[in-house]
Amino acid sequence: MAIQWFPGHMHLTRKAIAERIAEIDVVIELLDARLPGSSANPMLAELTGHKPGLKVLNKQDLADPGRTALWLAHYNAQPATRAIGLDASQTAPARQLIEACRQLAPQRGGSMAKPMRVLICGIPNVGKSTLINTLVGTRKAKTGDEAGVTKLEQRIVLADGFYLWDTPGMLWPRIIVAQSGYNLAASGAIGRNAFDEELVALELLGYLKRHYAGLLEARFKLDAVAGLGDEELLEAIGRQRGALLGKGRVNLQKAAEIVMNEFRSASLGRITLETPEEFGQWLAAGQLL
Ligand code: GDP
Repeated sequence: MAIQWFPGHMHLTRKAIAERIAEIDVVIELLDARLPGSSANPMLAELTGHKPGLKVLNKQDLADPGRTALWLAHYNAQPATRAIGLDASQTAPARQLIEACRQLAPQRGGSMAKPMRVLICGIPNVGKSTLINTLVGTRKAKTGDEAGVTKLEQRIVLADGFYLWDTPGMLWPRIIVAQSGYNLAASGAIGRNAFDEELVALELLGYLKRHYAGLLEARFKLDAVAGLGDEELLEAIGRQRGALLGKGRVNLQKAAEIVMNEFRSASLGRITLETPEEFGQWLAAGQLL
C-alpha cells in the first residue's frame, strides 16, 4: 500500500512558477537533509529546465553528517548545480546563500552587475519559513527600520542587487517511488491522516535496523535488533516503553508514535533515510508509482 499525496491546487503552483521562471537567475530548492531525494519535487526540475540550481540541505543538524557529505558531493557533481547544508541554528545563512548563487550565476548580483533574481522553493515542513524569517531578520538588523520583505511580491532583498522570491503557492511532494512516501511520512512532511502510522513506523524500523542498529539498541535498551523481525522490534520497543493495552499486549499504535517522534526529534540520533546510491536504485528498480 503506497502513500499518495497530490492535493489539487498543485497545478496553481505549477502555473505560477512557469510564469515567473523566465526572469529568474537561480532556483534554490530547499531539501530535507534526512531525505534529500524524497523531499525533492520532480516537477520543479521540469519547470525550471536549465536554470542554475542551488540545493540547500536543510535540517542538517538532524541528519547523518557522513551521508550529508555524500549528498552534497552528488549534487555538486551535477551540471549548473551547487549544494550547501544549513540548519535553523545558523543565525546568518545569507552569506553562504549569496556566495553559492554568485558562483552559479557569476555575471549577476555583483556591485556593478545586473541584479540577481533567485526563487526559493521547497515542500511543506522543510523549513522554508524558518529560513526566510532568519534571512529577513538578518536584513532588518542590517538596514535599520527598512522592512526586508515586500509582502505583496514576497520578495526579500538579501544584499544590494540580490533579490530572493518566495515560491508562489505550495510545492507539495510528488511521490514517485514507494519508499519516498514512507520517508516523507516518517519525516513529518505528510499530514497524519494520509497514512497508517504503524505501517510507516515498521518501514522506518526495517531501515534503521539495517543501517542504524546501534542507535536503536542504545535508545531502546535492546540487544541484537538486526535479528528481530520489524513487528517484533516494534513490540519490543512498546514493551520497553510501557505502551501496553492490558493482558500484556503491546499498544502498537502508541509504539509507532514513539518511534516516529524520536526519529523526528533526532532523540534516536542523527539519521538519514537514503543515500544518493539507494535513491538511484529505488528509481531504477522500477517501483515508480
Ligand atoms: P515550512 O513549512 O517549509 O515553512 O517549514 P517551517 O519553517 O515551518 O519548519 C517546519 C518545522 O521544522 C518547524 O518545527 C521548524 O522549527 C523546524 N525546522 C526548520 N528548520 C530546521 C532546521 O534546520 N533544523 C531543525 N532541527 N528544525 C528545523
